Amino acid sequence: MGVSRRDFLKLSGVSLLAGSAGINLEPAKAYAQGLRIKNAKETTTVCPYCSVGCGIIVHTVDGKVVNTEGDADHPINEGALCSKGGSLYQLVNNSLRPSKPLYRAPGADKWKEVEWSWAFDEIAKRVKGTRDRTFKTTSKSKVTEKLPDGTEKVVEKEFVVNRTDGIAHIGSAALDNEECFLIQKMMRSWGLTWIEHQARI
Ligand code: SF4
Repeated sequence: MGVSRRDFLKLSGVSLLAGSAGINLEPAKAYAQGLRIKNAKETTTVCPYCSVGCGIIVHTVDGKVVNTEGDADHPINEGALCSKGGSLYQLVNNSLRPSKPLYRAPGADKWKEVEWSWAFDEIAKRVKGTRDRTFKTTSKSKVTEKLPDGTEKVVEKEFVVNRTDGIAHIGSAALDNEECFLIQKMMRSWGLTWIEHQARI
């Protein structure tokens, strides 16, 4: 049965009245959802975000993602998704998502769009400069040592640390497993110890 936009709005209006009259709206909601994915191609995939590995169904029309939802046949999540997996649709369809880097110069009160090449060069230059300036090969710490007579003494010792305290990295819930793995490796190889994830803050 073909349903025009006008028919759909009428149906929604009737559903609204029915809801306020205590009538079950679930069939109308299911029908509306069905319209969105009618004739869409269904592809199964795995949520990219965390190692739980929930199954997701992606609906596409002419190559464009029109819907994503939990895969009820998937043994891990049986159709359920956390808020992160549930927002996967917005990974591909999101007019608010910046598509170019934004830069706010020191003292400026506005962000401006910049080219990726400029942003990458600038980040590399600043990371290198900060790391060179702040990198420590050793650090002194106080430790408690046991003496031959059984007493203890606090002494200062020097340890090899090979780290920089001048740079911190904060990760993102929008990163997938592989991105997190690579970023961890890169940050540790630079000597960073301040590595955080927004979910912990
Ligand atoms: S839906 Fe949530 S819990 Fe499931 S894999 Fe994605 S991020 Fe992990």
